Amino acid sequence: MNELYMKMLQRMIETMRTQADYLTDLDRQIGDSDHGINMKRGFEAIEAQLDVIQTKSVGDALNQCAMLLLANVGGASGPLYGTLFMRMAKVAKEHEQLDIETLIEMMKQGIEGIQARGQATIQDKTMLDVLIPVSECLQSSYTQNGVIDVDQVVQCAEAAMQATAPLQAKKGRASYLNERSIGVIDPGAASSYFLIKSVCEVLKENR
Ligand code: ADP
Ligand code: MG
Repeated sequence: MNELYMKMLQRMIETMRTQADYLTDLDRQIGDSDHGINMKRGFEAIEAQLDVIQTKSVGDALNQCAMLLLANVGGASGPLYGTLFMRMAKVAKEHEQLDIETLIEMMKQGIEGIQARGQATIQDKTMLDVLIPVSECLQSSYTQNGVIDVDQVVQCAEAAMQATAPLQAKKGRASYLNERSIGVIDPGAASSYFLIKSVCEVLKENR
C-alpha cells in the first residue's frame, strides 16, 4: 500500500473516531444508536492491522480492510461497507495503474456491490444518497476538467448528506419509523460523507 493510500486510511480511522458520537446520535434519532460505535470499532480493527496492511498491494490491502469491516462493524452497514471495499479491491487488482480513471471505476463498482447486496436505490435515505452523487460528481469533474476538483466533491458529498434529512427512509432500520424518519440526516449518509471528506483532504494536502 503506498504512502498516499495509507494516509487516506489513517485519516478515515481518525475521522470515524472523532465523529463516532455524532453518527451514533443520528442513529439514536432514527435507528438503534450504534452507527458511530459500529464504524469506530471497524476502523479501529483496521488500525490494529496497519503494520500488515502497509506491506500489501493496494488490492490486497483493500481486501483485508473489507474483511475487517465485515467482521467488526456489524449492523446493516458492516456488510455494505465491507462490500464497497471488496469491490474496490477487485478493481484495484485488475488495473496496473491506480490513476483517476481506476479510482472512478472503483467507486462505481463499489456502489454496484452495495446495491446488489442491500437492494436500495437513490432517495431511499441510505449511504447511497451520498455515494451515488459523489460518484457522478467524480465522473463529471474528471470528464470536464481532466482532473478531480476535490473541493467540489466534498461540497457535493455534504449537500447530498444534508439532502437525506427531508427524505422518508425506505430501507434499513429507519424505514420502520415511516414518516417519523423524516427530519434527520441518515447516519450512513453521514459516515459516507466523512469517509469521502477524509480521502479528499488527503488528496488536497498531497498535491
Ligand atoms: P443497523 O441499522 O443494523 O443498526 P448501522 O446503524 O450500522 O446498522 O447502519 C445504518 C445505516 O446503514 C443507515 O443509516 C443506512 O445508511 C445504511 N443502510 C441500511 N440499510 C441499507 C441498504 N439496504 N442499502 C444501503 N444502505 C443501507
Ligand atoms: Mg444502527
